[in-house]
Amino acid sequence: AHHRAVFELAAVGSVGGKLPLGLKRKGLRVVVTGGAGFVGSHLVDRLMARGDSVIVVDNFFTGRKENVMHHFGNPNFELIRHDVVEPLLLEVDQIYHLACPASPVHYKYNPVPSMWLFKCLNSFVHKTNVVGTLNMLGLAKRVGARFLLTSTSEVYGDPLQHPQAETYWGNVNPIGVRSCYDEGKRTAETLTMDYHRGAQVEVRIARIFNTYGPRMCIDDGRVVSNFVAQALRKEPLTVYGDGKQTRSFQYVSDLVEGLIRLMEGEHVGPFNLGNPGEFTMLELANVVQETIDPSAKIEFRPNTEDDPHKRKPDITRAKELLGWEPKISLRQGLPLMVSDFRKRIFGDHSDSNP
Ligand code: NAD
Ligand code: UDP
Ligand code: UDP
Repeated sequence: AHHRAVFELAAVGSVGGKLPLGLKRKGLRVVVTGGAGFVGSHLVDRLMARGDSVIVVDNFFTGRKENVMHHFGNPNFELIRHDVVEPLLLEVDQIYHLACPASPVHYKYNPVPSMWLFKCLNSFVHKTNVVGTLNMLGLAKRVGARFLLTSTSEVYGDPLQHPQAETYWGNVNPIGVRSCYDEGKRTAETLTMDYHRGAQVEVRIARIFNTYGPRMCIDDGRVVSNFVAQALRKEPLTVYGDGKQTRSFQYVSDLVEGLIRLMEGEHVGPFNLGNPGEFTMLELANVVQETIDPSAKIEFRPNTEDDPHKRKPDITRAKELLGWEPKISLRQGLPLMVSDFRKRIFGDHSDSNP
């Protein structure tokens, strides 16, 4: 069923039943759930640029209309305000399922000291991952669409294997403060494989490692957005714990390339998509200082529970089977994000959308 509708006859020169002079590629009909978010909106840009018809489904929980506004008025683009926890009927060829409240501040560092809100947010994360993924798989099954799940490196938990290969089953605390996210994504992976095996849905699974770039939420509590915003605002960079924990940071355009290759390729996965360059949080703070403000101060704060000590993708599988590897290093990518943050924080909107 996949790649139906790819060609349409161009009517040019078609007279009296003769074959037309040319075949014109007609784009696919693609849904991007979470398409108004950080990663989703960059993916939408790429799909639109190649001529696909793109439907963004988003409830704007963490996404913003501004991220996709430059496509308004384009007949190939549609934006639907919808919560994927509710069923949805559409006719499409591909589903990129990104919808998920991904920012830690929304489930981990919620500053509002209300247990009620905390519980609500966490169960919303879990519901989106479980019920939302189930609905999108049901949709894929009904219309014969190919389905791609954006899972996460968090399925590896606090890993006992380093770097992490896709064969590693992970070390996740099922009852911790970040479990709604980790376990939600693990369940989403399980559902995806069950629909693949049980209902023959064509599926793809990406395990995304920490990604940064323009359009990230400014106050979402992730480390790169925190440090960049803090350095620009002349505030101290807040390093949690001793700052020796590591992460590997991928620039968003590398991720988008990987997602498209995965969707178009023949392999189910899971595939790690991340940049193997590994940095401690103190090293990251130093790169931010070099890039923005060498005089920026560093302030240590207590770390949160269950914080993974290290994380670095083994991307051998993606290299071999998708011919993919990241191209942009942290030192190259960070300045691209900084100019976007500068504009959004200081209100200079003179340039076009990043
Ligand atoms: P984001 O928060 O910017 O985007 C998520 C989008 O999903 C937002 O636009 C939000 O409004 C939307 N959304 C959330 N719940 C929804 C619901 N119930 N119904 C409809 N829309 C909903 O986050 P992102 O960084 O762009 O992440 C995109 C995907 O990639 C997520 O699935 C996330 O788990 C995954 N991921 C991201 C990273 C990263 O470092 N950015 C790392 C690992 C995995
Ligand atoms: N679903 C949807 N859109 C569709 C088809 C299904 O949102 O086009 C939802 C449906 O409401 C259900 C879920 O996807 O909650 C799983 O659907 P499936 O047909 O696999 O399961 P069933 O409805 O038989 O439980
Ligand atoms: N972190 C930090 N300062 C901050 C925000 C986060 O030192 O202002 C640390 C956090 O404790 C973790 C790492 O940076 O060890 C990455 O955190 P993030 O929430 O960005 O991603 P994740 O933990 O999901 O990989």
